[in-house]
Amino acid sequence: MLIQLAESYGFCFGVKRAIKIAEENKNSATYGPLIHNANEIERLKRDFNVALSENLDNFKVGDTAVIRTHGIPKEELALLNKRNINVIDATCPYVTKPQQICEEMSAQGYDIVIFGDDKHPEIKGVKSYATGKVYVVNSPAEIDALTLRERVAVVAQTTRRIEDYQSIVSKLMMSHKEVRVFNTICNATFDNQDAVHKLAREADVMIVIGGKNSSNTKQLYSIALDACPHSYHIESQEDLQPQWFEGKNFCGISAGASTPDWIIQAVIERINHLSQP
Ligand code: SF4
Repeated sequence: MLIQLAESYGFCFGVKRAIKIAEENKNSATYGPLIHNANEIERLKRDFNVALSENLDNFKVGDTAVIRTHGIPKEELALLNKRNINVIDATCPYVTKPQQICEEMSAQGYDIVIFGDDKHPEIKGVKSYATGKVYVVNSPAEIDALTLRERVAVVAQTTRRIEDYQSIVSKLMMSHKEVRVFNTICNATFDNQDAVHKLAREADVMIVIGGKNSSNTKQLYSIALDACPHSYHIESQEDLQPQWFEGKNFCGISAGASTPDWIIQAVIERINHLSQP
């Protein structure tokens, strides 16, 4: 079995940066999961005593709170600062950008449209920075239900597909005189998406590794599945099923932006083992 990694895969700049920050702040706690990868969060706890706290009230004066890659709502950040918690911000700069845009464009009187998933932590954070009207939409059809004023500013969740964002923007342009468009989609996502598409067209079986709640991993899996019907989304080598590789000669591998190399290597070793005659 030939096993090939996509040309671009795995940890992105923002995740590498956040992990480095967490490692430099031993005995701290992240507020919410630092990244979307349970195995890496466990490693940080085990090797650096960086705990995970989902509850803001668990932080006491003098504690160190590391802010996750996807950011947190503005009010929560203010609360942590007010309680004299030592706040270390590991929010990815590509996520800070749409937060700033929402704040600035709201202040200038624009209604804000965010293309993304309302329930995703990144979007909850970005949305909180708007001081005026703000709407989150997941499809062009949802725009019809909005009562927007003439001046609209639009941003996208960093992990969205550019084609989908274009359809949102086109729809807004049809009904509004002024639409300010900010391309907030992250390049790391493009690179991994292009590479998985290229590899999935050639592979007999595609394995996409990453957390089940990782938005960018789900996007990679959906792109892989479009080109290769034998595509599977796994979190670790333990999810691999021997029958996936029966009669296959070429296995492609990609991984989401929060997937560490040690998990990818363990998956490759297990596939090698499973595909032995
Ligand atoms: S995928 Fe992009 S936006 Fe998300 S953490 Fe990585 S670099 Fe930042």
